Amino acid sequence: MEHNSSNFIRSIITEDLETGKRDNVYTRFPPEPNGYLHIGHAKSIVINFGLADDFNGKTNLRFDDTNPLKEDTEYVEAIKEDVEWLGYEWDGMFFASDYFEEMYNRAILLIKKGKAYVDDLSADEIRQYRGTLKEPGKESPYRNRSIEENIDLFERMRKGEFENGTKVLRAKIDMSSPNINLRDPVIYRVSHTTHHNTGDAWCIYPMYAFAHPLEDAIEGITHSLCTTEFEDQRPLYNWVIEECEMEHKPQQIEFGRLGITNTVMSKRKLKQLVDEKFVDGWDDPRMPTISGLRRKGYTPESIREFVKETGVSKGSGTVDEAMLEHFVREDLKLKAPRTMGILKPLKVVITNYPEDQVEMLDAEINPEVPEMGTRQIPFSREIYIEQEDFLEDPPKKYFRLFPGNEVRLKHAYFIKCEDVIKDADGNVIEIHCTYDPETKSGSGFTGRKVKGTIHWVDAKHALPAEFRLYEPLILDKLENEEDSTEQVSSEEKTFLDFVNDQSLEVLQGFVEPNMKEVAAHDKFQFFRHGYFNVDPKHSTNEKIVFNRIVSLKSSFKLK
Ligand code: ATP
Ligand code: MG
Repeated sequence: MEHNSSNFIRSIITEDLETGKRDNVYTRFPPEPNGYLHIGHAKSIVINFGLADDFNGKTNLRFDDTNPLKEDTEYVEAIKEDVEWLGYEWDGMFFASDYFEEMYNRAILLIKKGKAYVDDLSADEIRQYRGTLKEPGKESPYRNRSIEENIDLFERMRKGEFENGTKVLRAKIDMSSPNINLRDPVIYRVSHTTHHNTGDAWCIYPMYAFAHPLEDAIEGITHSLCTTEFEDQRPLYNWVIEECEMEHKPQQIEFGRLGITNTVMSKRKLKQLVDEKFVDGWDDPRMPTISGLRRKGYTPESIREFVKETGVSKGSGTVDEAMLEHFVREDLKLKAPRTMGILKPLKVVITNYPEDQVEMLDAEINPEVPEMGTRQIPFSREIYIEQEDFLEDPPKKYFRLFPGNEVRLKHAYFIKCEDVIKDADGNVIEIHCTYDPETKSGSGFTGRKVKGTIHWVDAKHALPAEFRLYEPLILDKLENEEDSTEQVSSEEKTFLDFVNDQSLEVLQGFVEPNMKEVAAHDKFQFFRHGYFNVDPKHSTNEKIVFNRIVSLKSSFKLK
């Protein structure tokens, strides 16, 4: 895989190798298994695995499972599947929880050096004592406990002698540091919670800011790449590595988060959409999750190319959803077979076509890739066309079917509208046409021209199909969504107030009979309608279900 566009992280790595600061490149992708991966994570995956690949380095998949309340093996399995599907192979797979004993020993080392202490302040009190950006913090009355007392209390925390929230272990750094992260951060808390990996072996858990640098150092990570919200934590990251006397010293480097318009991109919010049934699971095609995009029909190639195009920089960028769509269209253009499907059927009877006759017509599978060959489509006296391809009273410049007008049926004949059949309420239910046998597609007919070409399927042979069309999940008010903010506007509104209740349209239509053998995740370009994916969950032998990946046209242009 090629990732060799230049960026500031690549420059740092190149320099590290040239100056001999490093003799290898080892990165990691460190998700917390508290939800499914989203397209933002794909950025981190591409950067971590891609950079290591380019320098013949290694990448670990590491689950940052230090918060047992929110984590689950379901998420672990889903994350593994998504990383593999994106096309990456990890060198080692580890869990932060693999290192709990080692982390505990390093905490004891800190205590012995007088660099950590057990604090009895409540969480609220700790917050009050911490101070603000303008005011220094205040030292806890427990800050100067003796080393012996601290060791005794910390050991008893581990044994389970204390209730949740009654004691924490804090690093002893500097309560008046201008960097609030250095004002004696909590590094261990009591939580009597069963852990998905370690069960009930532990009732104290390390905090992320303490655990993460240790995990990196233990694994020999050289470049620890994370998003910019961790920039202020870098001094703490380095403090932990130094004071815990880790032999290996990784370097943290931050890059900007990826955001996409008309969606939300934090696992907490995505989980809320799932739990509150706004969507049908983490892999609902409207979700910005990797599994949702996969089910919608996105390819790994298209996601990787998209992410690379967004680049690597310090600034976080929200990009238009249309850019993501552009890349899947590009990827499928030459890969997806063409076919015809009717989403909103209207019956057409070709009155001069012999009653029991069926003929097979030849149609190219992909005109841009002649090697893909041809398919056969049956044609007979009754067909379906799109409701919107007929108008009884057409406006000017409407070149499709209307009384007296002639159009071309794609891959078939010219037909002319002779009669309109309506029900008692005046709704058009059937069109009667005649066809001209001279005008067969491919016959070289040049006698006259028509302005409109419409698609169709044979009524007797067509297969029933369901089409699911998607619109953005979140209405555009959220464009500048900041994942860290609870509220998205000054009023008491949350992102849930912006969920689009018209984001899914389900249509019952028909497809060509040669689609009988399709399998989950087969992708097609339906003439005039766009690219579709066979839904892996809802398709059955009786009815194929197609998810629309993307329509054909877009105003989006790559800069
Ligand atoms: P979320 O807020 O969505 O839960 P997170 O950062 O808490 O995201 P983690 O599981 O901790 O999720 O993330 C694993 C890695 O993916 C981290 O290194 C994180 O920086 C990176 N990452 C997460 N979201 C994005 C994003 N939108 N763009 C780029 N990288 C991201
Ligand atoms: Mg997180």
